[in-house]
Amino acid sequence: MTKEFNSEQIRAKFPFLSREVNEKPIIYLDSAASSQKPQQVLDKLLSTYSHGYANIHRGLHTLSEEATNAYEEVRFKIARFINASSKDEVIFTSGATMSLNLIANSYGLQNLKSGDEILITVAEHHANIIPWQMLCQKTGAKIVAVPVDNDGCFNTKELKDRVTKNTKIISVPHVSNVLGTIFPVKEISAIAHENNAICVVDGCQGVIHMPVDIQDIDCDFYVFSGHKLYGPSGIGVCWGKAEILADMPPFLGGGDMIDDVEIESATYSQPPSRFEAGTPPIAECIALGAAVDFVTDIGMDKIASHEKSLLLYGHQRLASVRGLSFVGTSPNKSGVISFTLDAAHPHDISTLIDQDGIAIRAGHHCAQPLMKFLNLSSTARASIAVYSEPEDFDALAISLEKVNRIFGA
Ligand code: PMP
Repeated sequence: MTKEFNSEQIRAKFPFLSREVNEKPIIYLDSAASSQKPQQVLDKLLSTYSHGYANIHRGLHTLSEEATNAYEEVRFKIARFINASSKDEVIFTSGATMSLNLIANSYGLQNLKSGDEILITVAEHHANIIPWQMLCQKTGAKIVAVPVDNDGCFNTKELKDRVTKNTKIISVPHVSNVLGTIFPVKEISAIAHENNAICVVDGCQGVIHMPVDIQDIDCDFYVFSGHKLYGPSGIGVCWGKAEILADMPPFLGGGDMIDDVEIESATYSQPPSRFEAGTPPIAECIALGAAVDFVTDIGMDKIASHEKSLLLYGHQRLASVRGLSFVGTSPNKSGVISFTLDAAHPHDISTLIDQDGIAIRAGHHCAQPLMKFLNLSSTARASIAVYSEPEDFDALAISLEKVNRIFGA
């Protein structure tokens, strides 16, 4: 029997919902920046640090073996969660930013040369721009950016028009953190492969909102951060295809990534440990496993359909606010609603509605090229998660009308 999505039961698992901000019940619409944590993730973090903690991989005592097993079990869980064919394709990093830097510095430095091209979109988070810029500075490769439509839709023809024989990497978001647009990553991967390029997917805003099957997408790398997936910060994932990882040199050197070390040389271990130098955030990784259990237990398909109707409701509700314009109205979107108000700057909006206990984000959202492309300096952004409910948007709409009144609109 399939379980229904029970919003009340799910909300009861999030302790943060019992607190007030400015003497109002909190309304947290900033989950795209970082999500709140369910009790089971907090419990796992505490129990690991309390009774199950030791350094992993090299210890021969009970605590170390237990911690190692718990850590490695999460690798297996993540592999199953994104349908990877092997747990050895799952590299733990500190987050999506580190994952993209790993790909750029390892795969990129090894495979790119002067004249090569990296295709990204104008809608990237800086984490999917700067590592490529740094790679270009080192190799002489260049970045080519694919535009989006005025409504934030992505047209694969625009991408195809920019692919050349020099294109080596196509790196795109699964979901834009500003526009909410869901990118056709399966189609983009196919285009990359038809042109002998690899496809990197920044899955930060994707994996948290919908089921992800990386074998179906057939991309070469898929990266995300644990802290947006109801897990702790400091832990994230870089999934890569086994045959590509096998040929990649390490990015960081140190303990745990070697086979044999001499004073002047070393041989490196196989992936994934080749890419996991040093002591990782052990308890955080184990608690990320609890976060994966949490969403898997609800069902990513159920989360996706709950959030889809919530987003639709959010758009309808906010459309009634005077002077509000949406930024990003692709019919295929997820997770976020960005907007501007004629009467007030996004920073003023965010500060004022905080008085009503409402948390949204205002600014460039680490996507300055997109802001420039859209001719905006910033937007306000309401983003949702599994604990969000329609009432959040009712409160937001009422509070925004208050802002209108304060600014005389
Ligand atoms: N890509 C996207 C689309 C994001 O939304 C974010 C976080 N805002 C990142 C990358 C970077 O994630 P982190 O800071 O967790 O590394």
